[in-house]
Amino acid sequence: MIDMHIHAVPPQLPGVGSLNPCLRLPPEEVAKLIQDEMRSAGIQYVLSMGSLSSSIADPLGIQSTLRISSRVPGMFAIGIANPEHNDAAFIRAAESQILEGKVVALKAYLGYLHYYPSDVGYHPYYKLAEKYHLPFIFHTGDTYSPEAKLKFAHPLGIDEVAVDFPNVSFVIAHVGNPWMLDAAEIVYKNLNVWADLSGLFIGDQKDFNDPDWRCEAESIGKRLKEAFDYSARPNRFLYGSDWPLAPMNIYRQMIRQTIPENFHEQIFFENAQRLFFRNQLSIKNPR
Ligand SMILES: [Zn+2]
Repeated sequence: MIDMHIHAVPPQLPGVGSLNPCLRLPPEEVAKLIQDEMRSAGIQYVLSMGSLSSSIADPLGIQSTLRISSRVPGMFAIGIANPEHNDAAFIRAAESQILEGKVVALKAYLGYLHYYPSDVGYHPYYKLAEKYHLPFIFHTGDTYSPEAKLKFAHPLGIDEVAVDFPNVSFVIAHVGNPWMLDAAEIVYKNLNVWADLSGLFIGDQKDFNDPDWRCEAESIGKRLKEAFDYSARPNRFLYGSDWPLAPMNIYRQMIRQTIPENFHEQIFFENAQRLFFRNQLSIKNPR
């Protein structure tokens, strides 16, 4: 199984804290936590978001994630595109990190940063994504920050770049929640757009046992199922948990209950293996 959306370090976004106090622990302790979570959920591979960086020494914001992933077999880093830093030297430094094989994808934080996907600040990053066949993920939908502006985070903005950059594969994180049907339409219409299932059910073990929480989760699940069916593209949905916002094993269970079993092989493994690893992973998906 591949969980293509976790956080091992604080994202360093305006108005956002550490997501969870555990992300402030030393790298070896975070590494241990992630390994325990992976084991309990039966996950072999995790892809972990870097943090927003304006330093040319670490343009994709991955150094702290790499300190953790070097201790976790099966863990890979995702670089963060900063649209405010895109001069030639900065992009050259980002390209070096890519050439060193340090990232398996790039990501932009729509809404948290006040730029549309079509903003020219992102264009050099899309060109890198195209050149090195790196999928490009967008945070979409609801945010954790009162400083964020939602209009930038609506999934409709991704239609425009999907058309203008047809050779880049784009991923709509969180299925655009709460605009899941809108996201599904973008996935349906554009052959180069995917969606990730992360961050939809948030809470700890206690929340997951609470009847009110479960009632709300059921309604989210209904909307997700509707969007999944509407898109008619089961081959382009990707499993992600958004850990540490939810325990990995419980999140996996929630998605298993929501998406029909005949698509599990695709969403828990095959789709991510094709998108991020070009079918190069050798394991088969154990159930
Ligand atoms: Zn996330």
